[in-house]
Amino acid sequence: MHQGVKQDEPIVILTGAGISKESGLSTFRDADGIWATVNVEDVATPEAFAANPVRVHDFYNQRREALQREAVQPNAAHEALARLERDWPGGVLLVTQNIDDLHERAGSRNVIHMHGELLKARCGFCDHVQGWRRDLGTDTACPACGRAGRMRPHVVWFGEMPFMMEAIAEALYTCGLFISIGTSGNVYPAAGFVATVREAGEARTIEANLEPSEGASHFHEALYGPASKTVPELVERLLATVA
Ligand SMILES: [Zn+2]
Repeated sequence: MHQGVKQDEPIVILTGAGISKESGLSTFRDADGIWATVNVEDVATPEAFAANPVRVHDFYNQRREALQREAVQPNAAHEALARLERDWPGGVLLVTQNIDDLHERAGSRNVIHMHGELLKARCGFCDHVQGWRRDLGTDTACPACGRAGRMRPHVVWFGEMPFMMEAIAEALYTCGLFISIGTSGNVYPAAGFVATVREAGEARTIEANLEPSEGASHFHEALYGPASKTVPELVERLLATVA
């Protein structure tokens, strides 16, 4: 089943909204998602923050509060990926488009949040980043430099560069297996990762999705169904090959 994936080869996993939806979090881009009711341009761009910071803070304060509700917990897919990181000899890098902390709560440690993290705040004066669970406002002072008025969610807005793209590219070039989970395949640059992997060499590629993504034809193998079912099965199969 996994010809070519040796246990000493690194695995890179990309996750998107589909993995968090089953944990009770609203997605941004689905037909019934957040962007169906809120304009991106009003809350998720640097221009929106400059024009109406209160509106932007309100929006992300709601998201931050929703993420910390008791009902929102990592699901079987998050748990399985944490187990794969622990038990796969070649190492696992998890690259997520999600801004929630469900991978970390499940136990994953080697995680890149390419679109930032909802539970962190950043100061626009001194660039200090730190964990943040409360509301942010226009009068919130930076814990590092003390200046107020420029604290913002540590998330990547439309028009901003995703984080750690060089490290991600390096990992894509050198992995033995690339797995894409719960992504629509139409949000760049993440949608281009599978093409990068295919260009780079012989790595195997698998997508696990509710339905075929827009990039489905680029993958060697596809697993369709809820991530909470397909991902634990896939992890089971991979770990069964570990001597
Ligand atoms: Zn500061």
